[in-house]
Amino acid sequence: MNQDEAQMQDAEVSTPIKGAAMRRMIIVGGGFSAATLAVQVLRTTDVPVAITVIEPREVIGAGLAYSTMDPDHRLNGPLEGHMIDPACPDELLQWCLAERILDRDPDCLGPAGHAFLRRGDLGSFFSYTVSKQAREAKCGSTLRHVRDVAISVTCANEIYQVETKEHGVLTAELLVIATGNPEPSLRAPFPASAHLHPAIVANPLEPRRLLDVADNARALVVGSGLTALDVVSTLLRERPQCDITVISRRGLRPSAHAPDIVERPSEDAAAAKPKVPNTDAPVPTFLADEVPSIRRWCRALRTEISRVQEAGGSWHDPFDAVRDTVWKLWPQLPIDEQQRFLKKLRVYYDVHRFRAPVMNDKMVRKAEAKGRVRFLAATLLNVDAPAKSLNVTADMQVGADKTRLRRDYDLVINCTGLDARSALSDNPVLVSLVEQGMLSVHENGLGFDVTANCEGVGSDGTIQKNPAGDRAPVCRHIRRPGGSYVHRSASSAHCAGLERHNHLARSGKSLRR
Ligand SMILES: Cc1cc2nc3c(=O)[nH]c(=O)nc-3n(C[C@H](O)[C@H](O)[C@H](O)COP(=O)(O)OP(=O)(O)OC[C@H]3O[C@@H](n4cnc5c(N)ncnc54)[C@H](O)[C@@H]3O)c2cc1C
Repeated sequence: MNQDEAQMQDAEVSTPIKGAAMRRMIIVGGGFSAATLAVQVLRTTDVPVAITVIEPREVIGAGLAYSTMDPDHRLNGPLEGHMIDPACPDELLQWCLAERILDRDPDCLGPAGHAFLRRGDLGSFFSYTVSKQAREAKCGSTLRHVRDVAISVTCANEIYQVETKEHGVLTAELLVIATGNPEPSLRAPFPASAHLHPAIVANPLEPRRLLDVADNARALVVGSGLTALDVVSTLLRERPQCDITVISRRGLRPSAHAPDIVERPSEDAAAAKPKVPNTDAPVPTFLADEVPSIRRWCRALRTEISRVQEAGGSWHDPFDAVRDTVWKLWPQLPIDEQQRFLKKLRVYYDVHRFRAPVMNDKMVRKAEAKGRVRFLAATLLNVDAPAKSLNVTADMQVGADKTRLRRDYDLVINCTGLDARSALSDNPVLVSLVEQGMLSVHENGLGFDVTANCEGVGSDGTIQKNPAGDRAPVCRHIRRPGGSYVHRSASSAHCAGLERHNHLARSGKSLRR
Protein backbone atom coordinates (compact mmCIF):
# COMPACT_ATOMS: atom_id res chain seq x y z
CA MET A 1 0.00 0.00 0.00
CA ASN A 2 1.42 3.42 -0.90
CA GLN A 3 1.27 6.47 1.36
CA ASP A 4 -1.62 7.99 -0.59
CA GLU A 5 -3.66 4.84 -0.28
CA ALA A 6 -3.00 4.80 3.47
CA GLN A 7 -4.31 8.35 3.65
CA MET A 8 -7.37 7.55 1.59
CA GLN A 9 -8.45 4.80 3.90
CA ASP A 10 -11.16 6.17 6.09
CA ALA A 11 -10.25 9.78 5.33
CA GLU A 12 -11.25 12.08 2.54
CA VAL A 13 -8.14 13.21 0.75
CA SER A 14 -9.08 16.53 -0.76
CA THR A 15 -10.99 19.41 0.71
CA PRO A 16 -14.40 20.14 -0.80
CA ILE A 17 -15.02 23.63 -2.15
CA LYS A 18 -17.07 25.63 0.32
CA GLY A 19 -20.61 26.39 -0.83
CA ALA A 20 -20.80 23.93 -3.72
CA ALA A 21 -23.39 21.20 -3.16
CA MET A 22 -21.51 17.97 -2.70
CA ARG A 23 -22.96 14.88 -4.42
CA ARG A 24 -22.28 11.61 -2.68
CA MET A 25 -21.45 8.44 -4.61
CA ILE A 26 -20.86 5.04 -3.10
CA ILE A 27 -19.09 2.44 -5.20
CA VAL A 28 -19.44 -1.08 -3.83
CA GLY A 29 -16.38 -3.05 -4.92
CA GLY A 30 -13.00 -1.49 -5.55
CA GLY A 31 -11.56 -3.37 -8.52
CA PHE A 32 -10.92 -2.15 -12.05
CA SER A 33 -14.46 -0.86 -12.70
CA ALA A 34 -14.42 1.21 -9.53
CA ALA A 35 -10.95 2.55 -10.35
CA THR A 36 -11.78 3.58 -13.91
CA LEU A 37 -15.04 5.19 -12.82
CA ALA A 38 -13.52 7.02 -9.86
CA VAL A 39 -10.62 8.36 -11.91
CA GLN A 40 -12.88 9.60 -14.66
CA VAL A 41 -15.32 11.22 -12.23
CA LEU A 42 -12.48 12.93 -10.38
CA ARG A 43 -11.06 14.18 -13.69
CA THR A 44 -14.19 15.39 -15.41
CA THR A 45 -16.92 16.30 -12.95
CA ASP A 46 -18.23 19.86 -12.92
CA VAL A 47 -19.67 19.59 -9.42
CA PRO A 48 -17.95 18.23 -6.33
CA VAL A 49 -18.52 14.54 -5.81
CA ALA A 50 -17.67 12.73 -2.59
CA ILE A 51 -16.81 9.20 -3.66
CA THR A 52 -16.68 6.38 -1.15
CA VAL A 53 -15.32 3.06 -2.37
CA ILE A 54 -16.18 0.08 -0.20
CA GLU A 55 -13.56 -2.57 -0.85
CA PRO A 56 -11.98 -5.07 1.56
CA ARG A 57 -8.67 -5.33 -0.34
CA GLU A 58 -5.74 -3.15 0.60
CA VAL A 59 -5.87 -0.98 -2.51
CA ILE A 60 -8.41 0.26 -5.01
CA GLY A 61 -7.92 -1.05 -8.55
CA ALA A 62 -6.36 -4.49 -8.11
CA GLY A 63 -9.55 -6.56 -7.71
CA LEU A 64 -9.62 -10.24 -8.48
CA ALA A 65 -7.57 -10.05 -11.68
CA TYR A 66 -4.68 -7.76 -10.73
CA SER A 67 -4.03 -8.74 -7.10
CA THR A 68 -1.74 -11.58 -8.12
CA MET A 69 1.96 -11.18 -7.39
CA ASP A 70 3.00 -14.24 -9.40
CA PRO A 71 5.61 -13.14 -11.95
CA ASP A 72 4.13 -15.42 -14.63
CA HIS A 73 0.57 -14.18 -14.30
CA ARG A 74 0.40 -11.80 -17.21
CA LEU A 75 -2.18 -9.72 -19.02
CA ASN A 76 -3.95 -11.63 -21.74
CA GLY A 77 -3.50 -8.76 -24.20
CA PRO A 78 -0.76 -6.26 -24.97
CA LEU A 79 -0.13 -3.18 -22.86
CA GLU A 80 -1.65 -0.76 -25.38
CA GLY A 81 -5.09 -2.34 -24.98
CA HIS A 82 -5.20 -1.65 -21.23
CA MET A 83 -6.06 1.73 -19.79
CA ILE A 84 -7.81 3.36 -16.90
CA ASP A 85 -9.10 6.34 -18.86
CA PRO A 86 -9.58 6.11 -22.62
CA ALA A 87 -9.05 9.87 -22.80
CA CYS A 88 -5.42 9.22 -21.75
CA PRO A 89 -4.43 6.06 -23.66
CA ASP A 90 -0.67 6.54 -23.12
CA GLU A 91 -0.86 6.87 -19.38
CA LEU A 92 0.02 3.24 -18.67
CA LEU A 93 3.06 3.29 -20.96
CA GLN A 94 4.30 6.52 -19.35
CA TRP A 95 3.92 5.00 -15.91
CA CYS A 96 5.78 1.84 -17.01
CA LEU A 97 8.63 3.97 -18.33
CA ALA A 98 8.78 6.07 -15.16
CA GLU A 99 8.75 2.94 -12.97
CA ARG A 100 11.22 1.14 -15.27
CA ILE A 101 8.80 -1.79 -15.49
CA LEU A 102 10.10 -2.92 -18.88
CA ASP A 103 13.68 -2.98 -17.52
CA ARG A 104 12.65 -4.91 -14.44
CA ASP A 105 10.57 -7.37 -16.44
CA PRO A 106 12.33 -7.74 -19.81
CA ASP A 107 10.55 -11.07 -20.45
CA CYS A 108 7.30 -9.18 -20.91
CA LEU A 109 8.24 -8.27 -24.47
CA GLY A 110 7.03 -10.60 -27.21
CA PRO A 111 8.83 -11.14 -30.55
CA ALA A 112 6.93 -8.29 -32.19
CA GLY A 113 7.74 -5.90 -29.34
CA HIS A 114 4.34 -5.96 -27.62
CA ALA A 115 4.51 -5.95 -23.82
CA PHE A 116 2.42 -8.44 -21.85
CA LEU A 117 2.74 -6.92 -18.39
CA ARG A 118 2.49 -8.82 -15.16
CA ARG A 119 -1.06 -8.43 -13.89
CA GLY A 120 0.26 -7.32 -10.50
CA ASP A 121 2.03 -4.41 -12.24
CA LEU A 122 -1.22 -3.32 -13.86
CA GLY A 123 -2.87 -3.45 -10.43
CA SER A 124 -0.13 -1.16 -9.09
CA PHE A 125 -0.71 1.26 -11.96
CA PHE A 126 -4.44 1.36 -11.25
CA SER A 127 -4.02 1.97 -7.53
CA TYR A 128 -1.31 4.58 -8.14
CA THR A 129 -3.53 6.43 -10.63
CA VAL A 130 -6.53 6.38 -8.31
CA SER A 131 -4.45 7.77 -5.42
CA LYS A 132 -2.87 10.45 -7.61
CA GLN A 133 -6.20 11.49 -9.05
CA ALA A 134 -7.72 11.71 -5.58
CA ARG A 135 -5.04 14.27 -4.70
CA GLU A 136 -5.72 16.21 -7.90
CA ALA A 137 -9.52 15.89 -7.91
CA LYS A 138 -11.56 18.49 -9.82
CA CYS A 139 -13.96 20.85 -8.05
CA GLY A 140 -12.90 19.74 -4.60
CA SER A 141 -14.21 16.24 -5.11
CA THR A 142 -13.02 13.63 -2.63
CA LEU A 143 -12.26 9.94 -2.53
CA ARG A 144 -12.39 7.71 0.48
CA HIS A 145 -11.52 4.03 0.66
CA VAL A 146 -13.52 2.19 3.29
CA ARG A 147 -11.83 -1.18 3.77
CA ASP A 148 -14.91 -3.23 4.39
CA VAL A 149 -17.59 -5.42 2.86
CA ALA A 150 -21.03 -4.07 1.96
CA ILE A 151 -23.72 -6.38 3.22
CA SER A 152 -27.04 -4.74 2.40
CA VAL A 153 -28.68 -1.77 0.69
CA THR A 154 -31.91 0.05 1.35
CA CYS A 155 -33.29 3.18 -0.25
CA ALA A 156 -35.48 5.74 1.51
CA ASN A 157 -36.31 9.27 0.37
CA GLU A 158 -34.03 8.85 -2.61
CA ILE A 159 -31.01 8.20 -0.44
CA TYR A 160 -29.19 4.88 -0.53
CA GLN A 161 -28.10 3.37 2.73
CA VAL A 162 -25.36 0.83 2.48
CA GLU A 163 -24.71 -1.27 5.53
CA THR A 164 -21.15 -2.44 5.96
CA LYS A 165 -19.72 -5.15 8.20
CA GLU A 166 -17.61 -2.84 10.36
CA HIS A 167 -18.21 0.78 9.37
CA GLY A 168 -21.94 1.02 10.04
CA VAL A 169 -24.28 2.55 7.46
CA LEU A 170 -22.99 4.84 4.70
CA THR A 171 -25.35 7.03 2.68
CA ALA A 172 -25.32 8.51 -0.83
CA GLU A 173 -27.52 9.73 -3.66
CA LEU A 174 -25.66 7.63 -6.19
CA LEU A 175 -24.89 3.95 -5.83
CA VAL A 176 -22.66 2.00 -8.18
CA ILE A 177 -22.41 -1.76 -7.90
CA ALA A 178 -19.00 -2.89 -9.13
CA THR A 179 -18.58 -6.20 -7.33
CA GLY A 180 -17.07 -8.02 -10.32
CA ASN A 181 -16.85 -11.77 -10.59
CA PRO A 182 -17.17 -14.15 -7.65
CA GLU A 183 -14.09 -16.04 -6.48
CA PRO A 184 -13.80 -19.43 -8.19
CA SER A 185 -15.40 -22.29 -6.30
CA LEU A 186 -15.75 -26.05 -6.70
CA ARG A 187 -18.67 -27.55 -8.57
CA ALA A 188 -19.80 -31.13 -9.23
CA PRO A 189 -18.31 -33.70 -9.51
CA PHE A 190 -16.08 -32.43 -6.68
CA PRO A 191 -17.59 -33.66 -3.40
CA ALA A 192 -18.95 -30.96 -1.06
CA SER A 193 -16.04 -31.38 1.39
CA ALA A 194 -13.38 -31.16 -1.34
CA HIS A 195 -12.38 -27.59 -0.53
CA LEU A 196 -11.04 -28.85 2.81
CA HIS A 197 -8.83 -31.51 1.23
CA PRO A 198 -5.10 -30.66 1.23
CA ALA A 199 -4.61 -31.93 -2.34
CA ILE A 200 -7.46 -29.91 -3.87
CA VAL A 201 -7.08 -26.25 -4.81
CA ALA A 202 -10.53 -24.73 -5.09
CA ASN A 203 -9.33 -21.21 -5.89
CA PRO A 204 -6.50 -21.20 -8.44
CA LEU A 205 -6.07 -17.44 -8.04
CA GLU A 206 -4.23 -18.22 -4.80
CA PRO A 207 -0.98 -19.61 -6.28
CA ARG A 208 0.79 -20.18 -2.96
CA ARG A 209 -1.35 -23.29 -2.46
CA LEU A 210 0.31 -24.77 -5.53
CA LEU A 211 3.66 -24.85 -3.77
CA ASP A 212 2.51 -27.20 -1.02
CA VAL A 213 3.47 -30.19 -3.18
CA ALA A 214 6.68 -32.13 -3.75
CA ASP A 215 8.89 -31.41 -6.74
CA ASN A 216 7.81 -34.52 -8.61
CA ALA A 217 4.10 -34.20 -7.82
CA ARG A 218 1.41 -35.46 -10.20
CA ALA A 219 -0.93 -32.55 -10.87
CA LEU A 220 -4.33 -32.55 -12.53
CA VAL A 221 -5.57 -29.19 -13.82
CA VAL A 222 -9.32 -29.23 -14.46
CA GLY A 223 -10.14 -26.66 -17.15
CA SER A 224 -7.87 -25.43 -19.92
CA GLY A 225 -8.52 -21.69 -20.23
CA LEU A 226 -6.32 -18.76 -19.28
CA THR A 227 -6.37 -19.59 -15.57
CA ALA A 228 -5.06 -23.07 -16.37
CA LEU A 229 -2.26 -21.43 -18.35
CA ASP A 230 -1.40 -19.31 -15.29
CA VAL A 231 -1.37 -22.34 -13.02
CA VAL A 232 0.74 -24.47 -15.37
CA SER A 233 3.22 -21.60 -15.75
CA THR A 234 3.60 -21.31 -11.96
CA LEU A 235 4.07 -25.07 -11.58
CA LEU A 236 6.63 -25.26 -14.38
CA ARG A 237 8.63 -22.49 -12.74
CA GLU A 238 8.38 -23.63 -9.12
CA ARG A 239 8.13 -27.42 -9.43
CA PRO A 240 10.26 -28.30 -12.45
CA GLN A 241 9.83 -32.08 -12.01
CA CYS A 242 6.08 -31.93 -11.71
CA ASP A 243 4.01 -34.06 -14.13
CA ILE A 244 0.99 -32.07 -15.30
CA THR A 245 -2.23 -33.20 -16.98
CA VAL A 246 -4.71 -30.57 -18.14
CA ILE A 247 -8.23 -31.69 -18.99
CA SER A 248 -11.25 -29.99 -20.47
CA ARG A 249 -14.37 -31.43 -22.04
CA ARG A 250 -13.60 -30.44 -25.59
CA GLY A 251 -9.83 -30.17 -25.27
CA LEU A 252 -9.93 -26.54 -26.45
CA ARG A 253 -7.22 -24.04 -25.52
CA PRO A 254 -6.99 -20.26 -25.68
CA SER A 255 -6.08 -19.16 -29.21
CA ALA A 256 -2.83 -17.48 -30.11
CA HIS A 257 -2.77 -13.75 -30.68
CA ALA A 258 -2.79 -12.34 -34.22
CA PRO A 259 0.40 -12.77 -36.29
CA ASP A 260 1.25 -9.07 -35.93
CA ILE A 261 1.56 -9.68 -32.17
CA VAL A 262 3.25 -13.09 -32.06
CA GLU A 263 5.62 -12.90 -34.99
CA ARG A 264 8.69 -10.81 -35.60
CA PRO A 265 7.36 -8.00 -37.79
CA SER A 266 8.44 -6.96 -41.25
CA GLU A 267 9.62 -3.33 -41.48
CA ASP A 268 6.19 -2.20 -42.70
CA ALA A 269 4.41 -4.01 -39.91
CA ALA A 270 6.82 -2.63 -37.30
CA ALA A 271 5.99 0.89 -38.44
CA ALA A 272 2.21 0.29 -38.33
CA LYS A 273 0.22 1.58 -35.38
CA PRO A 274 -0.73 -1.16 -32.93
CA LYS A 275 -4.35 -2.25 -33.20
CA VAL A 276 -6.32 -1.58 -30.07
CA PRO A 277 -9.87 -2.62 -29.29
CA ASN A 278 -12.36 0.03 -30.37
CA THR A 279 -15.71 -0.29 -28.67
CA ASP A 280 -16.93 2.86 -30.37
CA ALA A 281 -16.68 1.18 -33.79
CA PRO A 282 -19.93 0.57 -35.65
CA VAL A 283 -21.27 -2.97 -36.01
CA PRO A 284 -19.20 -4.49 -38.85
CA THR A 285 -20.86 -4.22 -42.26
CA PHE A 286 -20.87 -7.99 -42.73
CA LEU A 287 -23.30 -8.23 -39.77
CA ALA A 288 -25.14 -4.93 -39.98
CA ASP A 289 -27.89 -6.11 -42.33
CA GLU A 290 -28.37 -9.54 -40.82
CA VAL A 291 -31.48 -10.41 -38.82
CA PRO A 292 -30.29 -10.94 -35.21
CA SER A 293 -29.73 -14.66 -35.07
CA ILE A 294 -26.72 -16.66 -33.91
CA ARG A 295 -26.90 -18.90 -36.96
CA ARG A 296 -26.90 -15.97 -39.39
CA TRP A 297 -24.20 -14.10 -37.54
CA CYS A 298 -21.96 -17.17 -37.41
CA ARG A 299 -22.47 -17.78 -41.10
CA ALA A 300 -21.69 -14.15 -41.94
CA LEU A 301 -18.59 -14.20 -39.73
CA ARG A 302 -17.31 -17.43 -41.29
CA THR A 303 -17.82 -16.01 -44.79
CA GLU A 304 -15.93 -12.87 -43.85
CA ILE A 305 -13.10 -14.87 -42.28
CA SER A 306 -12.75 -16.94 -45.48
CA ARG A 307 -12.67 -13.79 -47.56
CA VAL A 308 -10.01 -12.19 -45.33
CA GLN A 309 -7.90 -15.36 -45.21
CA GLU A 310 -8.02 -15.75 -48.99
CA ALA A 311 -6.61 -12.23 -49.19
CA GLY A 312 -3.73 -13.24 -46.88
CA GLY A 313 -5.17 -11.87 -43.60
CA SER A 314 -6.00 -13.74 -40.39
CA TRP A 315 -9.30 -14.60 -38.67
CA HIS A 316 -8.47 -12.18 -35.86
CA ASP A 317 -9.56 -9.02 -37.68
CA PRO A 318 -13.17 -10.03 -38.49
CA PHE A 319 -13.49 -11.71 -35.10
CA ASP A 320 -12.25 -8.60 -33.30
CA ALA A 321 -14.72 -6.45 -35.21
CA VAL A 322 -17.48 -8.58 -33.66
CA ARG A 323 -15.80 -8.61 -30.23
CA ASP A 324 -15.61 -4.83 -30.10
CA THR A 325 -19.29 -4.38 -30.87
CA VAL A 326 -20.63 -7.36 -29.01
CA TRP A 327 -22.07 -5.02 -26.38
CA LYS A 328 -24.34 -3.62 -29.11
CA LEU A 329 -25.09 -6.97 -30.77
CA TRP A 330 -25.87 -9.09 -27.72
CA PRO A 331 -28.97 -7.19 -26.53
CA GLN A 332 -30.47 -7.54 -30.04
CA LEU A 333 -30.66 -11.31 -29.70
CA PRO A 334 -33.94 -12.87 -28.53
CA ILE A 335 -33.61 -14.51 -25.14
CA ASP A 336 -33.75 -18.10 -26.46
CA GLU A 337 -30.90 -17.26 -28.84
CA GLN A 338 -28.85 -15.85 -25.97
CA GLN A 339 -29.45 -19.01 -23.98
CA ARG A 340 -28.53 -21.20 -26.95
CA PHE A 341 -25.32 -19.24 -27.36
CA LEU A 342 -24.41 -19.58 -23.68
CA LYS A 343 -25.07 -23.32 -23.72
CA LYS A 344 -23.51 -24.33 -27.00
CA LEU A 345 -21.26 -21.67 -28.44
CA ARG A 346 -19.83 -19.62 -25.63
CA VAL A 347 -16.93 -21.97 -25.10
CA TYR A 348 -15.90 -21.55 -28.77
CA TYR A 349 -16.31 -17.78 -28.55
CA ASP A 350 -14.21 -17.70 -25.36
CA VAL A 351 -11.24 -19.60 -26.78
CA HIS A 352 -11.01 -17.12 -29.64
CA ARG A 353 -11.79 -14.10 -27.50
CA PHE A 354 -9.42 -14.74 -24.57
CA ARG A 355 -6.02 -15.31 -26.10
CA ALA A 356 -2.93 -16.73 -24.52
CA PRO A 357 -0.23 -14.33 -23.34
CA VAL A 358 2.62 -15.00 -25.78
CA MET A 359 5.18 -15.91 -23.08
CA ASN A 360 2.96 -18.37 -21.21
CA ASP A 361 1.87 -20.05 -24.42
CA LYS A 362 5.48 -20.53 -25.46
CA MET A 363 6.56 -21.85 -22.06
CA VAL A 364 3.69 -24.34 -21.86
CA ARG A 365 4.09 -25.60 -25.43
CA LYS A 366 7.81 -26.16 -24.82
CA ALA A 367 7.04 -28.23 -21.71
CA GLU A 368 4.37 -30.10 -23.67
CA ALA A 369 6.91 -31.02 -26.35
CA LYS A 370 9.13 -32.47 -23.59
CA GLY A 371 6.24 -34.52 -22.24
CA ARG A 372 5.99 -32.65 -18.93
CA VAL A 373 2.53 -31.31 -19.68
CA ARG A 374 -0.26 -33.04 -21.57
CA PHE A 375 -3.63 -31.70 -22.63
CA LEU A 376 -6.55 -34.13 -22.86
CA ALA A 377 -10.14 -33.82 -24.03
CA ALA A 378 -11.68 -35.48 -21.00
CA THR A 379 -14.68 -35.19 -18.72
CA LEU A 380 -14.12 -35.49 -14.98
CA LEU A 381 -16.64 -38.03 -13.69
CA ASN A 382 -15.73 -38.45 -10.06
CA VAL A 383 -13.23 -37.20 -7.51
CA ASP A 384 -12.43 -39.46 -4.61
CA ALA A 385 -10.83 -37.39 -1.86
CA PRO A 386 -10.79 -39.38 1.41
CA ALA A 387 -10.26 -37.12 4.42
CA LYS A 388 -7.22 -39.00 5.69
CA SER A 389 -5.45 -39.44 2.37
CA LEU A 390 -2.96 -36.94 1.03
CA ASN A 391 -3.86 -37.62 -2.55
CA VAL A 392 -6.93 -37.81 -4.70
CA THR A 393 -8.25 -40.32 -7.23
CA ALA A 394 -9.92 -38.95 -10.35
CA ASP A 395 -12.17 -40.85 -12.75
CA MET A 396 -12.36 -39.47 -16.26
CA GLN A 397 -13.85 -40.22 -19.62
CA VAL A 398 -11.30 -39.45 -22.30
CA GLY A 399 -11.66 -38.57 -25.99
CA ALA A 400 -14.37 -39.25 -28.53
CA ASP A 401 -14.35 -42.97 -27.74
CA LYS A 402 -15.01 -42.18 -24.05
CA THR A 403 -12.23 -44.37 -22.65
CA ARG A 404 -12.39 -44.62 -18.87
CA LEU A 405 -9.29 -43.50 -16.96
CA ARG A 406 -8.65 -43.71 -13.21
CA ARG A 407 -5.55 -41.96 -11.84
CA ASP A 408 -4.11 -40.78 -8.53
CA TYR A 409 -2.92 -37.19 -8.17
CA ASP A 410 -1.03 -35.28 -5.49
CA LEU A 411 -2.70 -32.05 -6.52
CA VAL A 412 -5.97 -31.26 -8.30
CA ILE A 413 -6.49 -27.64 -9.29
CA ASN A 414 -9.90 -26.28 -10.13
CA CYS A 415 -9.61 -24.04 -13.21
CA THR A 416 -13.18 -24.42 -14.42
CA GLY A 417 -13.67 -20.67 -14.50
CA LEU A 418 -15.63 -18.07 -12.66
CA ASP A 419 -19.12 -19.20 -11.88
CA ALA A 420 -21.27 -16.20 -12.74
CA ARG A 421 -24.31 -17.97 -11.41
CA SER A 422 -22.87 -18.20 -7.91
CA ALA A 423 -22.23 -14.45 -7.79
CA LEU A 424 -25.62 -13.68 -6.35
CA SER A 425 -25.80 -16.32 -3.66
CA ASP A 426 -22.24 -15.65 -2.46
CA ASN A 427 -22.54 -11.91 -2.14
CA PRO A 428 -24.83 -10.49 0.56
CA VAL A 429 -25.08 -7.05 -1.01
CA LEU A 430 -26.37 -8.52 -4.27
CA VAL A 431 -28.84 -10.70 -2.41
CA SER A 432 -30.05 -7.60 -0.60
CA LEU A 433 -30.46 -5.62 -3.85
CA VAL A 434 -32.54 -8.44 -5.31
CA GLU A 435 -34.61 -8.71 -2.14
CA GLN A 436 -35.22 -4.97 -2.15
CA GLY A 437 -36.44 -5.26 -5.75
CA MET A 438 -33.64 -3.07 -7.10
CA LEU A 439 -32.00 -5.83 -9.14
CA SER A 440 -33.19 -9.04 -10.73
CA VAL A 441 -31.25 -11.89 -12.26
CA HIS A 442 -31.45 -11.67 -16.04
CA GLU A 443 -33.62 -14.26 -17.80
CA ASN A 444 -30.61 -15.60 -19.65
CA GLY A 445 -29.02 -16.49 -16.29
CA LEU A 446 -25.95 -14.35 -16.90
CA GLY A 447 -25.78 -11.43 -14.51
CA PHE A 448 -28.49 -8.92 -13.74
CA ASP A 449 -31.12 -7.18 -15.78
CA VAL A 450 -30.13 -3.60 -16.56
CA THR A 451 -31.27 -0.93 -18.99
CA ALA A 452 -29.10 0.26 -21.85
CA ASN A 453 -27.99 2.93 -19.40
CA CYS A 454 -27.05 0.28 -16.87
CA GLU A 455 -29.73 1.07 -14.34
CA GLY A 456 -30.93 -1.90 -12.34
CA VAL A 457 -34.27 -3.44 -13.30
CA GLY A 458 -36.22 -4.98 -10.42
CA SER A 459 -38.16 -8.26 -10.48
CA ASP A 460 -41.39 -6.39 -11.30
CA GLY A 461 -39.70 -4.60 -14.19
CA THR A 462 -39.28 -1.34 -12.28
CA ILE A 463 -36.28 0.63 -13.39
CA GLN A 464 -34.38 2.45 -10.68
CA LYS A 465 -36.07 5.76 -11.38
CA ASN A 466 -34.34 9.05 -11.20
CA PRO A 467 -36.70 11.76 -10.01
CA ALA A 468 -34.87 14.28 -12.14
CA GLY A 469 -35.87 12.27 -15.18
CA ASP A 470 -32.33 12.01 -16.34
CA ARG A 471 -31.08 8.49 -16.78
CA ALA A 472 -27.59 8.93 -18.02
CA PRO A 473 -25.44 5.92 -17.26
CA VAL A 474 -22.28 5.87 -15.26
CA CYS A 475 -20.93 2.79 -16.97
CA ARG A 476 -22.40 0.88 -19.84
CA HIS A 477 -21.90 -2.79 -20.09
CA ILE A 478 -23.62 -5.63 -21.77
CA ARG A 479 -25.50 -7.65 -19.23
CA ARG A 480 -22.83 -9.50 -17.40
CA PRO A 481 -22.01 -10.07 -13.79
CA GLY A 482 -18.60 -8.54 -14.13
CA GLY A 483 -20.02 -5.17 -15.02
CA SER A 484 -21.01 -2.26 -12.86
CA TYR A 485 -24.59 -1.32 -12.35
CA VAL A 486 -25.66 2.06 -11.26
CA HIS A 487 -28.53 3.15 -9.13
CA ARG A 488 -29.22 6.80 -9.13
CA SER A 489 -31.27 8.87 -6.88
CA ALA A 490 -32.11 12.54 -6.38
CA SER A 491 -31.07 15.12 -8.91
CA SER A 492 -28.21 13.27 -10.37
CA ALA A 493 -28.52 15.26 -13.56
CA HIS A 494 -26.07 17.44 -11.78
CA CYS A 495 -23.41 14.96 -11.28
CA ALA A 496 -22.47 16.64 -14.49
CA GLY A 497 -19.60 15.26 -16.41
CA LEU A 498 -20.88 11.82 -15.61
CA GLU A 499 -22.37 11.47 -19.08
CA ARG A 500 -18.96 11.84 -20.56
CA HIS A 501 -17.10 9.43 -18.43
CA ASN A 502 -19.94 6.92 -18.72
CA HIS A 503 -19.01 6.58 -22.26
CA LEU A 504 -15.33 6.57 -21.51
CA ALA A 505 -15.67 4.01 -18.80
CA ARG A 506 -17.42 1.75 -21.27
CA SER A 507 -14.57 2.03 -23.70
CA GLY A 508 -12.17 1.24 -20.90
CA LYS A 509 -13.94 -2.06 -20.29
CA SER A 510 -13.17 -3.34 -23.72
CA LEU A 511 -10.63 -5.95 -22.79
CA ARG A 512 -12.34 -7.60 -19.88
CA ARG A 513 -11.99 -11.25 -19.45
C1 LIG B 1 -7.73 -14.11 -13.27
C2 LIG B 1 -8.23 -13.03 -14.17
C3 LIG B 1 -7.38 -12.44 -15.10
C4 LIG B 1 -7.82 -11.42 -15.94
N1 LIG B 1 -6.97 -10.88 -16.87
C5 LIG B 1 -7.37 -9.85 -17.62
C6 LIG B 1 -6.48 -9.20 -18.53
O1 LIG B 1 -5.34 -9.61 -18.68
N2 LIG B 1 -6.94 -8.15 -19.24
C7 LIG B 1 -8.22 -7.70 -19.10
O2 LIG B 1 -8.59 -6.70 -19.73
N3 LIG B 1 -9.08 -8.30 -18.26
C8 LIG B 1 -8.69 -9.35 -17.52
N4 LIG B 1 -9.56 -9.95 -16.66
C9 LIG B 1 -10.92 -9.49 -16.61
C10 LIG B 1 -11.12 -8.65 -15.36
O3 LIG B 1 -12.08 -9.31 -14.60
C11 LIG B 1 -11.57 -7.29 -15.71
O4 LIG B 1 -10.62 -6.72 -16.54
C12 LIG B 1 -11.75 -6.38 -14.51
O5 LIG B 1 -10.69 -6.52 -13.63
C13 LIG B 1 -13.06 -6.60 -13.83
O6 LIG B 1 -13.23 -5.52 -12.99
P1 LIG B 1 -14.38 -5.43 -11.92
O7 LIG B 1 -14.22 -4.13 -11.24
O8 LIG B 1 -15.69 -5.71 -12.58
O9 LIG B 1 -14.11 -6.63 -10.93
P2 LIG B 1 -12.90 -6.78 -9.91
O10 LIG B 1 -11.70 -6.08 -10.43
O11 LIG B 1 -12.76 -8.21 -9.56
O12 LIG B 1 -13.39 -5.98 -8.62
C14 LIG B 1 -14.50 -6.34 -7.86
C15 LIG B 1 -14.17 -6.03 -6.42
O13 LIG B 1 -15.37 -6.01 -5.68
C16 LIG B 1 -15.08 -6.39 -4.36
N5 LIG B 1 -16.34 -6.81 -3.73
C17 LIG B 1 -17.16 -7.81 -4.10
N6 LIG B 1 -18.23 -7.84 -3.29
C18 LIG B 1 -18.08 -6.84 -2.40
C19 LIG B 1 -18.87 -6.37 -1.32
N7 LIG B 1 -20.01 -6.96 -0.97
N8 LIG B 1 -18.41 -5.31 -0.60
C20 LIG B 1 -17.24 -4.70 -0.93
N9 LIG B 1 -16.47 -5.11 -1.95
C21 LIG B 1 -16.89 -6.16 -2.67
C22 LIG B 1 -14.05 -7.49 -4.51
O14 LIG B 1 -13.24 -7.59 -3.35
C23 LIG B 1 -13.27 -7.04 -5.74
O15 LIG B 1 -12.03 -6.44 -5.39
C24 LIG B 1 -9.15 -10.99 -15.83
C25 LIG B 1 -10.01 -11.57 -14.88
C26 LIG B 1 -9.56 -12.57 -14.05
C27 LIG B 1 -10.48 -13.15 -13.03
